[in-house]
Amino acid sequence: MTIKEKTSLFGLSSQCVLKVDDDYKTLEDYQGRISRWCPGCGDNGILTAAQRLCRDEQLPPEKCVFVSGIGCAARFPHYMNTYGFHGLHGRALPTAQGVKFRRPDLHVFVNMGDGDCCSIGTAHWIHAIRSNMKLVVMMHDNNIYGLTKNQASPTTPIGRKTNTTPRGAWLKALNPLTVTLGITNASFVAQVVEWLPELLYDVIRQAFHHNGLAFIRILQRCPHFTPDVFSNLLSDPKKLLMLEHENGIKLSDTMAKLYQTRQQHDPSNLHRAREIAEADDLVPIGILYKNESVPRYEQLTKPKQKPTWEQRETLLNNAFDRFGINIDARAAAGNI
Ligand code: SF4
Repeated sequence: MTIKEKTSLFGLSSQCVLKVDDDYKTLEDYQGRISRWCPGCGDNGILTAAQRLCRDEQLPPEKCVFVSGIGCAARFPHYMNTYGFHGLHGRALPTAQGVKFRRPDLHVFVNMGDGDCCSIGTAHWIHAIRSNMKLVVMMHDNNIYGLTKNQASPTTPIGRKTNTTPRGAWLKALNPLTVTLGITNASFVAQVVEWLPELLYDVIRQAFHHNGLAFIRILQRCPHFTPDVFSNLLSDPKKLLMLEHENGIKLSDTMAKLYQTRQQHDPSNLHRAREIAEADDLVPIGILYKNESVPRYEQLTKPKQKPTWEQRETLLNNAFDRFGINIDARAAAGNI
């Protein structure tokens, strides 16, 4: 039966039928293997948001790369039906930078845990922010090392008992927002929670469209090891400070009714962003800082003109000649 016959069967004109592009990609086109995260793990929500972004932007799967280090969050690339690189602990960022540098046409995403980013990967984190290459960086922060079974990470709250701090964590937790906002060339810094899917998606979408490195700290529930760590935020919506702005997030009417601790914050104001990030009493949600004019490393280092094949050959030959042995010159000097 033709489409015309089928539609007339239901009394519809064939002109009313929604024309679906044959190449249109659905969520299933971005779904990789079945996730092995624990039931209720917040990583699942982050995965759904990333898949939804790819679907909504209709990104060709072969043009996307998800890069990770080691940890629960680092299993992310396995669950995406795109290219991916599950690498070394703390080394997701330099790997992603390498991919982006050689293949600027690819959409490169990074998924790191708090241990991965703020402990072994700290130096890479600082220098990646400074380089400001176009990447979407999602830092899944569950305040613990989950994969290695309940060890204190740099963001573990002070006093929390873990396998490595049986008497409670000694130090005050590191604040990834103040650190990132203090790094030269920071151009996009946001914080969101994975249990508010609309906000999570909105922030990831804005990060994707940002012209530079977008760093998102995502507070992520780990029901296995830190089931209570965000319970105060879940039971008392007033503890979340919603940063609203026309250049940041906008709450729906329903969300605005529920989350009444709100503030207008212009994401171009770095000084104010730092003040908000430093405050201990409330947890800011939204885009703290955004600056599209920070130069990107790949822009700064791009050659003005591509060398021709002849110029490349000459450069290559000159490089080889530096290490070649000139027999005639050595003979004239009496060395042979
Ligand atoms: Fe998720 Fe925690 Fe389980 Fe890891 S240990 S998969 S972070 S719930």
